[in-house]
Amino acid sequence: MHDTPDEMDDDSTVYKTLLESTRAIPWKIDWKTMRFAYIGPQIGALLGWSPESWTSAEDWANRIHPEDRDWVVNYCVSQSKEGVDHEADYRALTQDGHYVWIRDVVHVVRDADGEVDSLVGFMFDISERKETEQKLIALQKELEALSFKDGLTGIANRRMFDSILDTEWMHARRNSQPLSLILIDIDYFKQYNDHYGHIQGDDCLRQVAQALESAATRARDLLARFGGEEFALVLPETDAGAARMVAGRCHALIARAAIPHATSPVAPALTVSIGVGTIIPGRQDTPLAFVEAVDKLLYQAKQAGRNVLVADR
Ligand code: GH3
Ligand code: MG
Ligand code: MG
Repeated sequence: MHDTPDEMDDDSTVYKTLLESTRAIPWKIDWKTMRFAYIGPQIGALLGWSPESWTSAEDWANRIHPEDRDWVVNYCVSQSKEGVDHEADYRALTQDGHYVWIRDVVHVVRDADGEVDSLVGFMFDISERKETEQKLIALQKELEALSFKDGLTGIANRRMFDSILDTEWMHARRNSQPLSLILIDIDYFKQYNDHYGHIQGDDCLRQVAQALESAATRARDLLARFGGEEFALVLPETDAGAARMVAGRCHALIARAAIPHATSPVAPALTVSIGVGTIIPGRQDTPLAFVEAVDKLLYQAKQAGRNVLVADR
């Protein structure tokens, strides 16, 4: 059975009506001339640019957000040259100067000789999806920050400490590098709370955290709130000598903060006791045993009269 010309006309009218009534915007670019052979009239409603204003592929490229343009154009051109169907998400410029997230889905049409003849595709408005996606990413970041950050002081929490210590432990063991840990405990903090009250006690903890933040300077160093009035510094690739220096700086920074502690038996200002340990982790060693060993050094510092630093070598 053959279609009569009339029926064929009917068909293409049907196709055209269908194409131009969907929310996806159809288009066609002639590969040799790089000019638009067609773009659905819906483009006017979405971006504000009239269908007639889309003449060349350059118009398309110019209406891509500058941050997306290079990779999108390069990617689409290289995929098209290889004759591979592809898609790209990018921000398209609207006539009134805003951007809309678009997903462009491209099909490469070849001629009888297998040469690229044209590109046809659909543009989809994905701004709603992107907005949801970005909200989710922001929310996820917030959650992450909430769960790895100590709510009171804003520094890393115990969970973060455990996680980083594990990572650095494996790193140090693999590379036979020294890993140092400093544990810092406020002296007579119970008396501080008793004298100044819990609210000011909380504030004191914030001050101590802030003071200690500048003790360690390398990018992978981590300061965390280890417990109630205890802080920890994880120092990767740091030997005993360097760790002692950082611990000494902790003492100096707390002294400089000069937080009054009227009822402290050791000094008129707040002091801390410090334990410093260094290890090149071996097969038999565990992070837990290492933390316990450093905690013992801290205990020795307390026994020695507080406001003291005890290191394992
Ligand atoms: P020492 O120096 O010998 O360790 O004595 P200390 O009093 O500092 O140690 P102790 O363990 O006896 O008491 C710790 C105190 O820290 C008791 C607890 O109420 C207080 N503390 C722990 N967490 C917080 C907190 O988040 N806020 C406040 N304000 N106090 C806290
Ligand atoms: Mg304590
Ligand atoms: Mg204490």
